[in-house]
Amino acid sequence: MKTNQILVRYGELSTKGKNRSSFIGRLRDNVRQTFMDLGGIRIKAERDRMFIASDDEAEIEQVIQRLPKVFGIQSFSPVIEAELDMEAMKQTAYDVVKKLNREGKTFKVTVKRPNKAFPLEKLEIMHELGSHVLRNFSELSVQMQHPDIELKVEIREEAAYMMAEVIQGAGGLPVGAGGKGLLMLSGGIDSPVAGYHMLKRGVRLELVHFFSPPFTNDRAKEKVYDLAEKLSQFGSSVNLHIIPFTKLQQEVHKQVPDNITMTSTRRMMMRVADKVLEETNCKAIITGESLGQVASQTLESLSAINAVTHTPVLRPLIAMDKLDIIETAQKIETYEVSIRPFEDCCTIFTPANPKTKPKLDKVEYYENFVSFDELIQEAVDQREIIKFPRVKEEKLTYDNLL
Ligand code: ATP
Ligand code: MG
Repeated sequence: MKTNQILVRYGELSTKGKNRSSFIGRLRDNVRQTFMDLGGIRIKAERDRMFIASDDEAEIEQVIQRLPKVFGIQSFSPVIEAELDMEAMKQTAYDVVKKLNREGKTFKVTVKRPNKAFPLEKLEIMHELGSHVLRNFSELSVQMQHPDIELKVEIREEAAYMMAEVIQGAGGLPVGAGGKGLLMLSGGIDSPVAGYHMLKRGVRLELVHFFSPPFTNDRAKEKVYDLAEKLSQFGSSVNLHIIPFTKLQQEVHKQVPDNITMTSTRRMMMRVADKVLEETNCKAIITGESLGQVASQTLESLSAINAVTHTPVLRPLIAMDKLDIIETAQKIETYEVSIRPFEDCCTIFTPANPKTKPKLDKVEYYENFVSFDELIQEAVDQREIIKFPRVKEEKLTYDNLL
């Protein structure tokens, strides 16, 4: 059985009217980026479907493994090639159905025959293949409407192509189709999940992480690298901006009373993020905040934090339960990384009794004693930028042109 291409069905983008071709172009580039390390991949993007082909079956296997993470895809099917010979086709049809291994299910065959030179007519081919399969799998019964297994056969000039397996895609929109957002990525469970939800809606990510050496160590940084690597596997690369945050954090602790340092620290993060956002052409800040989880995540707290910026702050997890967030974190494989026990800058500076209802005027009052502008600019200027995925070679793509 030779699988040398994958047929890809587009997701929601099929309904996007005249934006369609740019969506398809975006998806094609994301697919190309995802498989950049595989040398023999060929991509053909048509109006209604895309084909990913390679003559190397090991590469096709890689495509099947990784494609379920690429957003903008409804489902996909491995396409199996058979010789233009009825016996070979029967054998392939048998192999394809056997692989699906669904006992007691319903079945049908459909045939397209663009190759008019093939000696048998469409109905004859259907009959031959169908009865061969039914003879060999006595538990299958024919059903024309919504069968469990639909064996699709296309007789072309060079070969016959068959497929039956339908693998669920990730859904969503191609990453990048929705512009770019700046994710505040901590080492915790929530922010990577927030990033995932935005990626799924087509938003490409830049990442900022606030790092406070020597209070936080390189293991904590490694954790964030690993999370960035995970977030780069959904069809689009990401840049991680590591912000040296120690001076700002210490200054906040000098200037404001203990119980509102949390609010003030977050406000400094926002101010830094705003500057990175401008430089990187992002249109929104994204956080992993979820209502009521901790003191800084009450409505009062969030509005005191928000008051420092005019940029839209998106919080995809705001109304989600922790258990649901954890479930997603497990699904996207960030959970194992997030629970490694290295503290990030906020955990270390967390006061014993943070205010759950900080007053904005009070926060502003204390922050006013010094100008934080210089420290903020210094943190932005001294940031380190790393591109993920780290392993793949760089090429010019649609993404890089944004
Ligand atoms: P997470 O699980 O994402 O760390 P959390 O429940 O621990 O979230 P907080 O510590 O209050 O909540 O952080 C709220 C949000 O602020 C995070 O989701 C993240 O977006 C941002 N954030 C917190 N710490 C950092 C950091 N060191 N670097 C970048 N962003 C951060
Ligand atoms: Mg955290």
